Amino acid sequence: MAAVMDLQASAPLPPGLGEEQLAFRRAARDFALAELAPHAARWDAEAIFPREAIARAGELGFCGLYVDEAAGGSGLSRLDATIVFEELAALDPSTAAFISIHNMATWMLTRYAAPALRAAWGRGLASGAQLASYCLTEPGAGSDAASLKTRAVRDGDGYVIDGTKAFISGAGATDVLVVMARTGGEGARGISAFAVPADLPGIAYGRKEEKLGWNSQPTRGVAFEGVRVPAGHRLGEEGEGFRIAMKGLDGGRLNIAACSLGAAQGALDAARRYLGERRQFGRKLAEFQALRFKLADMATQLVAARQMVHTAARKLDAGSADATVWCAMAKRFATDAGFSICNDALQLHGGYGYIREYPVERLLRDCRVRQILEGTNEIMRVIVARHLLDTEEELR
Ligand SMILES: Cc1cc2nc3c(=O)[nH]c(=O)nc-3n(C[C@H](O)[C@H](O)[C@H](O)COP(=O)(O)OP(=O)(O)OC[C@H]3O[C@@H](n4cnc5c(N)ncnc54)[C@H](O)[C@@H]3O)c2cc1C
Repeated sequence: MAAVMDLQASAPLPPGLGEEQLAFRRAARDFALAELAPHAARWDAEAIFPREAIARAGELGFCGLYVDEAAGGSGLSRLDATIVFEELAALDPSTAAFISIHNMATWMLTRYAAPALRAAWGRGLASGAQLASYCLTEPGAGSDAASLKTRAVRDGDGYVIDGTKAFISGAGATDVLVVMARTGGEGARGISAFAVPADLPGIAYGRKEEKLGWNSQPTRGVAFEGVRVPAGHRLGEEGEGFRIAMKGLDGGRLNIAACSLGAAQGALDAARRYLGERRQFGRKLAEFQALRFKLADMATQLVAARQMVHTAARKLDAGSADATVWCAMAKRFATDAGFSICNDALQLHGGYGYIREYPVERLLRDCRVRQILEGTNEIMRVIVARHLLDTEEELR
């Protein structure tokens, strides 16, 4: 794997990135090389959640990257965060993705919690000493998340939560659940968000799902039965929960897109190296023009995807009115490109790409789900098309 990183080290930074971002990139790469790369294949094969490695990522500030410094975070920009996630994902896309989801949930909690709640959880979460899950999806409410049925009913000085969440990343291994639940009528405006300690009475975790990838992090359903939370655990006002969930996802989608860039870079570098080593028909594979062209197309796609992710991150950092649609475009484009590049890299390895001795099959498996979660890529198209047809504003 060291050779992979050597190749990456020589890659020029895209335009518009400064020395500071170069330093973040170096720190993330050094961490990934030392703490993730040596173990990622085993964590995947044995479905081990690397709690200690994530805590060490927290010590470097990677668990609260764009959380305010006052709340215990690193106070970096969304652009900086994408650079860090890309580097982590180049060597372990599954663990990087969990860290990215934790960042999203931590940002939501610290951004929208009342001061006492923020003080209680902020530093622990941003330092990686405690971990967070994001609980929106339900068995009957996936893409149509605003139809969720979990209820939070006001009872004295608190709420009682009942319902079931599905596919929750990290569930059973995290300390706090950011839960979207219905406090009002139907639709998005009837939803509120809550920070729920993960060990409260009435919370039950389902079996660990067996998955194609993302094996270094557990995915479980979560059932809430008569779970009492104080009113002070609500994030924002009643009825603001869906908006808060979507604000979280703007950044979350960038993070997921950045993880796809990382996996794709890892796969591209592996393929580039392999073409230089493997010989068939008396020649190196790197001498066949069809394969050279394939590699060129992979690199072109990757660079285009990275530029789009960085542009969307700048839009979010600037608070642009159209940031959501840029984040959706970047997520759609980068996760599709990431999967396609990993798939091409596997093909360039021939049969060796399919076996676990080489990293590309794991990169491919860990890339696939990014086209599905945090809004499927079809839903990303819904968001972009709605913007184009309903606002008639240009996207530039
Ligand atoms: C490994 C993993 C981890 C996850 N982690 C989390 C998590 O931490 N927290 C969380 O809340 N959720 C999580 N999810 C859930 C994920 O966000 C949902 O799976 C996703 O939003 C899709 O919902 P669904 O699976 O119900 O599919 P459905 O909504 O049933 O969609 C099925 C198909 O129909 C398409 N479709 C649906 N509606 C439309 C439409 N209007 N137009 C066009 N096509 C449409 C979809 O794109 C998809 O192809 C995770 C999922 C997985 C697999």
